[in-house]
Amino acid sequence: MDSRAKNEITVQGIAASQGIAYGQIFVYLQSDVEVPSYQVEPEKRIDEVARFDRALVVTRQQISKIKNEVEKNIGPEEAAIFDAHLMVLEDEALIGETIREFEATGCNIETCFQKVSSRYVQAFSEIDDEYLRERAGDLRDVAQRVLQNLLGQAENALNRLVDQRIIVGRDISPSESATLDRSAALALVMDSGSRTSHAVIVARSMKIPSVVGVRNLTQRVRNGDWAIVDGYDGLVILNPSESTLFRYGKIQERKRSFEARLLEANRQPATTQDGVTVPLLANIEKAEEVAKVKSFSADGVGLFRTEYLFLSAARMPNEQEQFLAYKAVVEAMAPAPVIIRTLDLGGDKPMAGKSDLFPKETNPFMGFRAIRFCLEHTDIFKEQLRAILRASAFGRAKIMYPMISGNEELARANAVLAECRAELKAKGVPFDEKLEVGTMIEIPSAAATADLLAQECAFFSIGTNDLIQYMLAIDRVNDRIAHLYEPTHPAILRTLRNVVAEARKRKIPVSVCGEMAGDPVYAPLLLGLGIDSLSMSPAWLPSVKYLIREMTMADARKLADEALAMGSAKEIYAKCDAFYRARVRMD
Ligand code: PEP
Ligand code: MG
Repeated sequence: MDSRAKNEITVQGIAASQGIAYGQIFVYLQSDVEVPSYQVEPEKRIDEVARFDRALVVTRQQISKIKNEVEKNIGPEEAAIFDAHLMVLEDEALIGETIREFEATGCNIETCFQKVSSRYVQAFSEIDDEYLRERAGDLRDVAQRVLQNLLGQAENALNRLVDQRIIVGRDISPSESATLDRSAALALVMDSGSRTSHAVIVARSMKIPSVVGVRNLTQRVRNGDWAIVDGYDGLVILNPSESTLFRYGKIQERKRSFEARLLEANRQPATTQDGVTVPLLANIEKAEEVAKVKSFSADGVGLFRTEYLFLSAARMPNEQEQFLAYKAVVEAMAPAPVIIRTLDLGGDKPMAGKSDLFPKETNPFMGFRAIRFCLEHTDIFKEQLRAILRASAFGRAKIMYPMISGNEELARANAVLAECRAELKAKGVPFDEKLEVGTMIEIPSAAATADLLAQECAFFSIGTNDLIQYMLAIDRVNDRIAHLYEPTHPAILRTLRNVVAEARKRKIPVSVCGEMAGDPVYAPLLLGLGIDSLSMSPAWLPSVKYLIREMTMADARKLADEALAMGSAKEIYAKCDAFYRARVRMD
């Protein structure tokens, strides 16, 4: 049956990345495939075994193809990993046991294979031998693929989509989102997640409409179902009727003409009507994004999330590879500044296949991430610092540390940096001796000791994504409590005000590089609180600039003063929203 003939169903989620998409769904199930269980009639049992054989053959072909591509694009060493995967498919014990289980129970082959392969995965992962433990991972991956082939689900690589699709997944990891192909992804919908999940940040930077927190949508839809994704209001409309399609067509037309107005304004400076020019910078995840940054006429890069160089790679990039990536950005942006943030791996961004460096943690956001990881793995940290220092000879690079919790940690990081400077100097390698070093303010203890930190660094950049999660104790990627993640909470406003006051005393600039900075509803509040510059996904620069050109700084200050005197996050939000709506109209 044509899915467009089915009833229209509207699912409410969280609006995560603006835009509207209409198309067919691709269900992306990367782990724990749901396997239906049923009895196979005796006369069909031969066919069932043949179905299993075919799935093994298809899986073999898929893995061989990936192996060849990896060999061609990355190298033979990395491609060898897939030999281990191919060996799993020839494992007589695994295959023989699955067939015996099927003969004994008559249960469908998926159920038997899942049962047997899980038993093997469990057994391997409990063995006290690193080699065999790694085989558990190989086995899990391959078993997943076999199950998907048995269930007729599409191959689960996001970068292999042939046609344009709306991707619906349970949870998409940062490394998976790093491989998203903009031309194939119409929209991104996730069962879990929130506005600051990293997959969403990536989607937003690619201008892919996104709705998250739709609970169990993956279980309710099938590959090929038609849907509208409304990233403005956080809606997913399954099987939309003709009248809904018509209505959305009209909305899209209006948005398009508004966007054209935004792009026109983007050629002008970000100057308020009372003559204050606000530096607007860009957040990037990859060096290649620099062209986009320039096309949106950003005043520099305010946050280069370098961990993405690592997340999208099969192995750790070495010093030279990093140097080339940083140099490309610094050189292209010169003389504009580029703030290169040192590694923020761990937390929700562990490196795939590196469980030795990033062991599973019960509470990863409070765990071994970012500067904590770097100060323990100083070899990795120093490689990165040297690469950044070397790149600084080609333009105006700055270094920024993530997740600093206090002045002692900052001093330790600076001591490692001093060693790197000395090493390069001794070898006569050029770098910018005046390179500025700043710190992110994203942990409450850093905000509370901003006076101490301001004495030891050249600038602050406030990471509101994490600062809000830690101050309000709201996991930033948990959709169940996403409604409690309130950027306008009085505690956040007071904290921002205090950080600005301490920075002012020491005459150091303060920027915001969390998602709040790129939202035109919050930007006036931040500027009114005294924030000097804003850094955001390049795609959001036009709408923030448009608003800045429509407002006065005096009004923004008044807004901030009134907001600081209020006690309700919702009322403060409503005030900010009214401020925005009074100045920006879509029609
Ligand atoms: C932040 O926490 O606001 C931030 C910019 O860093 P990230 O989103 O990469 O954690
Ligand atoms: Mg952060």
